[in-house]
Amino acid sequence: MRKIQMVDLISQYEQIKPEIDIAILSVVEKAQFINGPEVSAFQTELENYLNIKHVIPCANGTDALQIALMALGLKPGDEVITPSFTYIATTEVMALLGLKPVFVEVDKNTFCIDPESIRSAITPKTKAIVPVHLYGQSAAMESIMKIANEFDLFVVEDNAQAIGCDYTFADGTKKKTGTIGNIGCTSFFPSKNLGCYGDGGAMCTNDDELAEKIRMIANHGQSKRYYHDVVGCNSRLDSIQAAILRIKLSRLDAYNNARQNVAAYYNEAFENVQEITTPFKASNSNHVYHQYTLKLDGIQRDDLQNYLAEKDIPSMIYYPVPAHRQKMFSAFGSNALNLPITDWLTERVISLPIHTEMEEEQLRFIADEVKTFIQQTKK
Ligand SMILES: *Cc1c(COP(=O)(O)O)cnc(C)c1O
Repeated sequence: MRKIQMVDLISQYEQIKPEIDIAILSVVEKAQFINGPEVSAFQTELENYLNIKHVIPCANGTDALQIALMALGLKPGDEVITPSFTYIATTEVMALLGLKPVFVEVDKNTFCIDPESIRSAITPKTKAIVPVHLYGQSAAMESIMKIANEFDLFVVEDNAQAIGCDYTFADGTKKKTGTIGNIGCTSFFPSKNLGCYGDGGAMCTNDDELAEKIRMIANHGQSKRYYHDVVGCNSRLDSIQAAILRIKLSRLDAYNNARQNVAAYYNEAFENVQEITTPFKASNSNHVYHQYTLKLDGIQRDDLQNYLAEKDIPSMIYYPVPAHRQKMFSAFGSNALNLPITDWLTERVISLPIHTEMEEEQLRFIADEVKTFIQQTKK
């Protein structure tokens, strides 16, 4: 049995090595490292895949979120509603831009932002909502868009963990996550569902004006070379990464399917284990399982992690400290917030290995060891 990893990028590379090697070499041979034809080809292919008018590639997912918020023309002190139960990048960029992150609760089943919690956090200063499609499942976008329309708020989707996920509206319309709000942001960090071999990210939108602004901001605020209209930054996807992403985009649905099969295996294995709640799947979203995250009940999580580590099974806690409890945000007084569901989840979640090349032997071993640990602690 291969060594079990949270994400096994070497096994994945071995499967696509000939194609990847040729693609990387051809960029090197042409020496078009920045903004080469691979970048525009990838952009078009991603636009087609997501069924959206504009994709604007950038340097990483954090930049994507920052540039998206810059493009909305928000002013310092404006409030942005966002879940506390997320990766720090979602909320950090708000503080960086002088905006006020307003942390709200997530749904205890889906782990995604709770629409009712959004509603009660709205003030006259609220300008935007940033939902996160956490672990690969869509937030409740229909309710979120309804609230956004009612209060005239922008919606920026943090789609770093859910590229390829479909959301179905009540009338049956299907859309990809990231294409529902005003702007969608994603990351191509190597371990993401669509990952490159370094850093990368992208924004997408159907709004021509926003797309133009995003492009300018990501390129030093230029409208024309050496004419800088607004303060921007330098955020680019390089050609080697784009060449790799083109190959992996053509396999994204198969990759997500492989993840779904892993989840199905775990779900069945843990079906009758009382101490474990397997991931909830909302009926209006499919789930692309960026993470496979359990909720534990009556189990010492540290002990389970240590036990698994002894068997060479890695596991992770995403995330041990929610945003509102981070020192970084103490100036916002958020440490005093009462978010009981977020705190409750923070103490109970554990993510098991999931990736595109997992073998049944590995899955059986992991599931058996988790169950053995639970049996032992019961005695
Ligand atoms: C990975 C991630 C990001 C940031 O992406 P980077 O490319 O690492 O900057 C933002 N939000 C979420 C939810 C993520 O998982």
